[in-house]
Amino acid sequence: MSNCDQIITGFDLWYLKLPVVSARDHGIGRVDGSCEVIVLRLTAEGGAEGFGEASPWSVFTGSPEASFAALDRYIRPHVLGRKVADRAGIMADAARAVAHCTEAKAALESALLDLEGHIRGQPVYDLLGGKTRDTIPLSVSLANPDWAQDRELLTRLQSDGVRIVKLKTGFAGPEFDMMRLEAMARDFQDFSVRVDYNQGLSVADASAQVRAVAALHPDFIEQPVGAVHFDAMAALRSQIDVPLLADESVFGPEDLARAVREDICDGVSIKIMKSAGLTRAQKTARLAANHGLSAYGGDMFEAGLAHLAGAHMIAATPEITLGCEFYQARYYLREDILEAPFPCEGGVVTLPGTPGLGIRPDIGKLDHYSLGKARAA
Ligand code: MG
Repeated sequence: MSNCDQIITGFDLWYLKLPVVSARDHGIGRVDGSCEVIVLRLTAEGGAEGFGEASPWSVFTGSPEASFAALDRYIRPHVLGRKVADRAGIMADAARAVAHCTEAKAALESALLDLEGHIRGQPVYDLLGGKTRDTIPLSVSLANPDWAQDRELLTRLQSDGVRIVKLKTGFAGPEFDMMRLEAMARDFQDFSVRVDYNQGLSVADASAQVRAVAALHPDFIEQPVGAVHFDAMAALRSQIDVPLLADESVFGPEDLARAVREDICDGVSIKIMKSAGLTRAQKTARLAANHGLSAYGGDMFEAGLAHLAGAHMIAATPEITLGCEFYQARYYLREDILEAPFPCEGGVVTLPGTPGLGIRPDIGKLDHYSLGKARAA
């Protein structure tokens, strides 16, 4: 059987602990040692497979345990026995079955799209409206508490052709932030520099620090204060002449609508792990563009499988104009989980043109890094 009336008969999960190369500090927390992601495999009755990844960060979107439970216990019954073609209906049922758990829903939609793409012989971007670009500019984030190590990374990025970096700020005081920004301006002039506080500043401290950073004219300044502080975001926006971007304040279209009403930002970070899927990410980006806001394609601490899903979404979403941040598979994980390297060369991510997401996870690696598994009965 080669059509999308096939029934979904397999639903397998891997809970992975993936070693990383260094510590990273952010305004809301540290990552060190490893990051934890969930991989979902759907199998159709004809044998075709589709994969998706949930990449939570406990201090930002939610916990990996919650993602695993959402998929295993609450979403699985709405998937097994359904037709591959019933993607929108399955996603609607998953949304009702468990609140939040946006990363689990992103994994589900990725796997459904990958499965459908393999059956139809089409890349995922075709199922999302078609490819509007062949490559996406890559931004790499600098968050190492050891600045000497980040300088070594910058040298490597330079030779790899990467020309956009995002400096993570607000975790070690304003002097450390200004020192690094001044070093970037002096020693690494060929990079565009973005700044991201990840909610790291108190409302009381934010104005002075953000205005000092804005005086150095980064491309944009992102989420200086806590996600809930819409009033403070709006006030900061009026005090600086560089764009202010919202990340943690805007998960999906509902938050975006409020952000527009309350004038809190000039642009927004779009992530499939926040929006609960690829189609909702597209909806968020389109709503942003309708209101004159810019958008970039962000990510969480992801492996290459989630990067692929995000890249296909961005390829089919021309409203996302500020590039992507899919750097972890190449620059942060000790080993990625895909069968072939995630395609980023010369400072851009390249879209695979093969069916589905384009590259499969290596099942041997999934088993190697797995802390636990769950299989369809
Ligand atoms: Mg951010």
